[in-house]
Amino acid sequence: HGDQTESYPYNDPGQLPVMPVRDQNGEWLRVMIDFPGGSLWLRAWEARVGRVKLYLLDSNDPINSPPDRGITSELYGGGPEMRLQQEIVLGIGGWRLLDAMGIKSDVCHLNEGHAALAVIERARSFMLSERQPFKVAVAATRAGNVFTTHTPVEAGFDRFSPELVSRYLANYADQLGIGLDGLLALGRQDPANSQEPLNMAFLAMRGSGVVNGVSRLHGEVSQHIFQPLFPRWPQGEVPVTHITNGVHMPSWDSATADAAWTNACGKERWLNTMDAIKDNLKNVTDESLWQLRMEEAEQLIHYVRARLGRQLARASASVQLIKQSNQLLDSDILTMGFARRFTEYKRPNLLLHDPDRLSRILNHPERPVQLVIAGKAHPRDEEGKALIRAWWEYSLRPDVQNRVIFLSDYDMALAEQLVQGMGLWINTPRRPWEACGTSGMKVLVNGGLNLSERDGWWAEAYR
Ligand SMILES: *Cc1c(COP(=O)(O)O)cnc(C)c1O
Repeated sequence: HGDQTESYPYNDPGQLPVMPVRDQNGEWLRVMIDFPGGSLWLRAWEARVGRVKLYLLDSNDPINSPPDRGITSELYGGGPEMRLQQEIVLGIGGWRLLDAMGIKSDVCHLNEGHAALAVIERARSFMLSERQPFKVAVAATRAGNVFTTHTPVEAGFDRFSPELVSRYLANYADQLGIGLDGLLALGRQDPANSQEPLNMAFLAMRGSGVVNGVSRLHGEVSQHIFQPLFPRWPQGEVPVTHITNGVHMPSWDSATADAAWTNACGKERWLNTMDAIKDNLKNVTDESLWQLRMEEAEQLIHYVRARLGRQLARASASVQLIKQSNQLLDSDILTMGFARRFTEYKRPNLLLHDPDRLSRILNHPERPVQLVIAGKAHPRDEEGKALIRAWWEYSLRPDVQNRVIFLSDYDMALAEQLVQGMGLWINTPRRPWEACGTSGMKVLVNGGLNLSERDGWWAEAYR
C-alpha cells in the first residue's frame, strides 16, 4: 500500500568481513570508559577496505550491562541520552582505541560534529604524556584536527543539555582540571552562559585548525551559521573553507561506460587532473556516446523489470501482474527519475505538483517519457514516508501504469543500477539545503544528464 516498513536484521559480526582487534598477547583489545554507575567496555573490529583499515567499536560485550550492550546496535535510535552515549563512545572511545593500538595520528578528521569529543580526548592524552595543562594541550593538538560540517541548518547540530552532560562527563571534566563548566564552555556560543547546551559542532569548530563545508555554496552558508562564534567578524572572514564532495568514479561507472572511457582516455584517466583527459574526451564521437547510452538504458530496463517482478512477488501480487512487469517500460523512450532519501527538503514529490500535467508529459504522443523512482525515508520521518506513498499512489493511476515505476528497498546496489542507466536524473532540493549531494555525479560518469536546482555541487558544476 505504499507504506514503508522497517526491519532491523541483526548484523552478526562473525558473519561480516571483520576481524577482532587483538593486543600483543592475542587477547581481544578492550578500551574502557567511565559511565555513571560503572564502566563501559568497548571491543574493536577491523575491516579492510582496499589499503584502508577501518576500526569499528562494539559495546555488545557480555561484561557490559544489557542496556549498554545496545549502545552501538543502531544508528540514530533512542533519545538524546543514547545519542550522547554513542558520541562518547565514538569520540572518547575512538581516540582511546588509537592510543591503545599505538597508532600515532597527526591529523584527526572529524566528519560531522558527532565525533567532536575526540578533540577533548586527544588533548587529554597529550596533557598526560607531555605533562602540560589541559589548555596548553588543546592549543597544541588543535592544529592537527580538521572538521567537516555537513548540515546547512543550525538545527541539524547535536546539542546536549548541561544536566545530561554533567551525568556522563562531570568526573572526566574534573580530571582535565577544567570542571564541567570549562568543558561545556568549549561547545557554547557564549562560553559564559551556563544555560546553553553543549553544541557538538561548536565544540568541533573550536577544537579544529581547519573547518570546511562540502560545497562552495555550503561553505558560505556555514560561514553564516558559525558567525555567532566570531562576533564582529565580517561573514566572509569566518574561518570556514570548503571542499566539494566527490564520488569514486571507478565504483559508479558501468562496465559499458568504463570500456568507452578506457578506449578514449586509457585506464589511468581518473588519477590526475582533468587536463590529461580533456582533449581525449573530445574525440569521443556522438555515435559512440549514443551507443553507450542505448546499451545502458537497455540494461536498466531489464534490471527494473526483474526487480519489480520480485518486488511484486514478495507483495503477493497476482501472477498476471508479476508477468506483466516483464513488459513495462520502453527502451526507445527517455527514462527520467531519481533514487535518494525521501525527506522534505529534497522535495521528491515536486514532480507531482500537477499530477495531470505530469501524466500528459509522460504520455506525450510524439515524445513520451518514463519515470523510475526509488528511495527510503528515515524510520521516524512520517512526512518522508507520506512522500513515498504519494508516488506509490500516483504510479497506480491507470493512465501512467506503464510509465511510472517505484522501486522499494533502496540501497547502494539499486542506486548503482539506476545511475548507470538513467537518461535524465532529476534533483529538486530546496536551496540551499542540499549541502552537496552526489548522486548526480554518478550519473555524469555514465553519460546521463542532470536536471537540478543550483544547489550543493550543482551550483559549481552546472556548466
Ligand atoms: C549517492 C547516494 C546518495 C546521495 O544521493 P543524493 O541524491 O545526493 O542525496 C544517497 N544514498 C545512496 C545509497 C547513494 O548511493
